[in-house]
Amino acid sequence: MSGLLEDCLEQGARELGLELSRDKMAAFRIHYEIMAEENRKHSLTSIMGEKEVAVKHFIDSMTCLKVLDLEKEYVVDLGTGAGFPGVPLKIIRPRIKLLLVDSAKKKVEFLADLIKKIGLEKTEARWDRAERMGGSSEYREKAEIVVSRAVASLNALAELCLPLVKVGGMFLAMKGPGAEEEMKTARKAIDLLGGTVERVERFRLPLIPEERSLILIRKTAPTPERYPRRPGIPAKRPLV
Ligand code: SAH
Repeated sequence: MSGLLEDCLEQGARELGLELSRDKMAAFRIHYEIMAEENRKHSLTSIMGEKEVAVKHFIDSMTCLKVLDLEKEYVVDLGTGAGFPGVPLKIIRPRIKLLLVDSAKKKVEFLADLIKKIGLEKTEARWDRAERMGGSSEYREKAEIVVSRAVASLNALAELCLPLVKVGGMFLAMKGPGAEEEMKTARKAIDLLGGTVERVERFRLPLIPEERSLILIRKTAPTPERYPRRPGIPAKRPLV
């Protein structure tokens, strides 16, 4: 099947220097259809048309590859919602080990179904809160890479994500045009939690004139034991 979704994906991916095989295209089509079906039942995401989904969800997720060379790392997508950016990254780089995390049960059920229908291997969907995982020995400082999009302000997000990253690993925050401002407010939190900003990449999305920023933070020291604080506190009283 070749529709508007496929055309936009092909063009957007090409602009990012990526090539999409027939199998990868088919996986994106499945993801799109399951999302559309879910949206008809109860609203899952606000973005709907094929072009919008192709660019604002799939292509936007792929932009992580501008700053990360994913091969077979253990990647956690924190607050993944309908699977962004984790699922597109897994489709493009099938050798990664992926953990999709969300605190909303409905979304995790959707993700489990999606994983099965696309046939993603080494991929798990977990219903949990970042704050709880950050305090558990099973997840604390285990991920090589943690990515997150549209979950919280950077200072709150740092407290949710950095505790999960191994020392030497990376935390990638996907942000819009306001990244510089957020970074100013988050500098102290990032430092306190053991992170160091390594690179900030600003660019425009292919096909839709919107600005994005990728903030790449390396975990350079262990996170002090008192972080993350209790569920809800990082967003309510972000570190400043
Ligand atoms: N990353 C997706 C979804 C963004 S919406 C995208 O960009 O499309 C934010 C999601 O983060 C919601 O699904 C919400 O349930 C989840 N979330 C918010 N706080 C969380 C926390 N502390 N732990 C785990 N998930 C969280």
